Amino acid sequence: MYVDSHCHLSFPELHERVPELRRDMAAAGVTQALCICTTLEEFPRVHALATTHDNFWCTVGVHPDNEGVAEPVVDDLLERARLPRVVAIGETGLDYYRLGERTIADMAWQRERFAVHIRAARACGLPLVVHTRSASADTLAILRDEGQGAVGGVFHCFTETREVARAALDLGIGISFSGILSFRNAAELREVAAMVPMDRLLIETDAPYLAPVPHRGKLNHPALVVHVAEQVAAIKGLAIEEVAAQTSANFDRLFTRASQAGGQV
Ligand SMILES: [Zn+2]
Ligand SMILES: [Zn+2]
Repeated sequence: MYVDSHCHLSFPELHERVPELRRDMAAAGVTQALCICTTLEEFPRVHALATTHDNFWCTVGVHPDNEGVAEPVVDDLLERARLPRVVAIGETGLDYYRLGERTIADMAWQRERFAVHIRAARACGLPLVVHTRSASADTLAILRDEGQGAVGGVFHCFTETREVARAALDLGIGISFSGILSFRNAAELREVAAMVPMDRLLIETDAPYLAPVPHRGKLNHPALVVHVAEQVAAIKGLAIEEVAAQTSANFDRLFTRASQAGGQV
């Protein structure tokens, strides 16, 4: 029984194929998936996935890479976070990878957007799904400054260093690994995974992107999270069943059980 803790089934590549993807999930033993929101405009579609399928959950948030979309205020997020099946705030965070002509100073809007998400998470008690790329120091600093520790969350699609993983774990944040863990050039990331305690580790596809080996370069989808679990099992020297059970329990503790208990883990 596996859980895909992060996928984008509302994206056009996957949205039309949901019935087929659900059959693949069932065949692979993937029993739940968290459908991630990246704009307020997209939210109704993401939310509908979670309300029409009893093993899908969803988030509300505006991805740091999205420009020219509705800019959320805390109440926009809270209004949607209160709806059934919404179990986290995100994905949110910082991404300095595509600065282009801009400097880090020019990205103040992204830092403010991230702070808004953390304030919403604290107000409703839901955990955060955090995206960080080429921005780990500022991501950690804002999480600390905004007092995120009250709600917890996860660094998704983790590709940072051991030091960043340590700092996130110390802040009470879990670490989620994607198919990148299976890429040939990801030896350092496998060392990071070796260090993350099993009770803080999650697995995800980030579908439609980043299909794991042996499907690299193809369209990714939730059933393929099994290959991420295989990697974790190999790295940790554990049976894959144990990885499945532990990562699923972590998911339930962080997301689904927290939402049912009104936000408190
Ligand atoms: Zn992301
Ligand atoms: Zn994502």
